[in-house]
Order: sequence, then C-alpha cells, then structure tokens
Amino acid sequence: RTGKRRSWQRLTVADRDGIPALRHTAGALLAGQTVVDEFAAYRLADGTVAVFRPDSHIKRLNNGARRLALPQVDFDRVWSSVRAMIELDEGWLPQRAGASLRLRAVLAADGTELTPGPADHCLFYVLGSVPAAAAKKPLKAMTLDGYVRAWPGGTGDLRTGGGLAVGVVPAEIARNYGNDHVLWLDGEGRHVQQIGELNAFFVIDGVLTTPALDRTVLPGITRDSVVKLARDAGTAVAERPVELAEVLKGIADGSVTECFATGTADGVAPVVSLGHQGEEYRFASAEAGPVTARFRELLDGIHRGESVDRFGWMRRITEV
Ligand code: PMP
Repeated sequence: RTGKRRSWQRLTVADRDGIPALRHTAGALLAGQTVVDEFAAYRLADGTVAVFRPDSHIKRLNNGARRLALPQVDFDRVWSSVRAMIELDEGWLPQRAGASLRLRAVLAADGTELTPGPADHCLFYVLGSVPAAAAKKPLKAMTLDGYVRAWPGGTGDLRTGGGLAVGVVPAEIARNYGNDHVLWLDGEGRHVQQIGELNAFFVIDGVLTTPALDRTVLPGITRDSVVKLARDAGTAVAERPVELAEVLKGIADGSVTECFATGTADGVAPVVSLGHQGEEYRFASAEAGPVTARFRELLDGIHRGESVDRFGWMRRITEV
C-alpha cells in the first residue's frame, strides 16, 4: 500500500482533485530539485525602480540549475518576468528612496518520473512580495552543536530549496535561545562559514575579513559588493579561512572589533554578539561599529540611487 506505485497514484488523485502542478514537478517534490534566487528592487531617488545586480542573480540561478541537473534559463526570460512582476507590484512600493520590493525566481524540476534524474524541463516562477520595513536591529548569532549547513562538494554554495530547508530547525533553536541566527561552522567546528542565510564579515586587527569561498560558503552578491566597494575605496580586505577560536579570543582581547552579516534582504546588518557553548561574546558597541556603518551607508546610498553607481549595479526596469 505504501509502494512507489501507490504513492504515485495518490499524486495523480491529487492532480484530479485540482492540483495539476503536482503531476509535473515530481523531480522537485521527490528529489528536491529546486533552485531559488532572490532579487531586490529599489525605489530610486528620482522615482524610478531598479533591480540590484540582476545579472549576478541570474548567473547564480543557472549555476544552481547546472548542479541539480535542471535546464538553464536565459537572461531575457528571467529579466522580463522579474520586470513584469515588479510592474504588477509597483503600486505597493512606497515613493521613499530606498524602499524595496523582494522577488524570488524559482526553478523546479518538471517531469513525471519517480526516479530522480536530469530534468528536461522545469517550471519557472517569479514570486513577488513587499518586505515588511526592514528591521535594522543589530543581530545576535550562536553556534549549534550537531548541525552542519554545508560541506565541500555538497550544494551549500548554491541557493537550492533543500539548502534552505537544512537551516529551518537550527534557526528555530537559535531563536529559542534568544538569537537571530545560527553561526554556522564547518564539520569540525573549527572555521566560521556563515551567519544564518547571510555572509559573515569581521574586522580583525583593522582588516575587513570574510571567510573565503571554499565551496561551503554561499557566494553572496551583497558579500561580493562589499568586497568590491572596499577594494575600490582602498580598504584592505582579506578573504581567508576564519577560525572561530581566533574570533572569540579577538573579541575578548579587543583585536576583533566588529562583525556584520550581508544579504539581499538585510543589506549590511551589524552583529553585536556571538554565542558559543553557553558563553556570550559581545562586541564593544551594541550598535553598528564605524566600519559596518560605513559599508551599510555605501551600499544603501547605491540602493537609494543617491550615490554614484560606479559598477553599474542598478538596472532600471524602464529606461529613463
Ligand atoms: N547565504 C545563504 C545561505 C543565502 O541563502 C543567502 C541569500 N539570502 C546569502 C548567504 C546572502 O547572499 P546574497 O547577498 O546574494 O543575498
């Protein structure tokens, strides 16, 4: 009764009952072959709307598709759908410069086979939403024994549906302990990978330092933007393995002065404490430190359309 055939028939029954999409997404439902990328659109100071680095997001979507054996989507297809969704939702977007709208592009393996395999087709969705006013409160993160988000050769460096699922229970546990995120470590508990679904930055001996892209860290587009902005401003940036012990010792002795986390939805978010094995390690400032504040402002200025967009990151949905 519980054999494969039986489950398949149940799926077909669901289809007849009015969930036709189920019949065509066996790869997504049964093998988790889905890739998701998030886009942010901003109201610029001149009243127009622009998407931040859509080319990078679409490239990452296709990298994920390749790894999960889904077909590639072409840039124009994604861009025109994202644009159409923004045009539909634009009425929700306040006139205030920097107000933002978040969208998700989803690729889900098509097919009716029960055995996972490469997908010849995929469903492509763009989901739109207006974010709640971004909470700019400083973040707290803690390590968690017994959970690993990513390992070399896995899919933790891609935005897959399953990759996000892995973090749901740990994030709940961290929240129950009064934290916002898990401070993700490698399997040996030695190196810092990420802060929840955000990339981690530290100021260590005055150097802006972020864990290297070692195939366990998601190549965040905000992370890349901060690194580029820093290099452009002549600020030293180190992308290298970052040991947890070095960070915790540095917070205590004052050599690690700041921490922040980056992501499309959060921008540059200050992190004010890190928890490990029952101890809380607090940074000197309970607000954004000077380096964090500087990069937050540099990026926000571009998102508001108030700073010069030297890298051509903001792509308007209609040309002015
Ligand atoms: N890590 C993970 C696991 C993510 O899903 C994301 C995207 N929310 C990030 C980091 C940040 O990447 P980005 O700056 O491209 O949003």
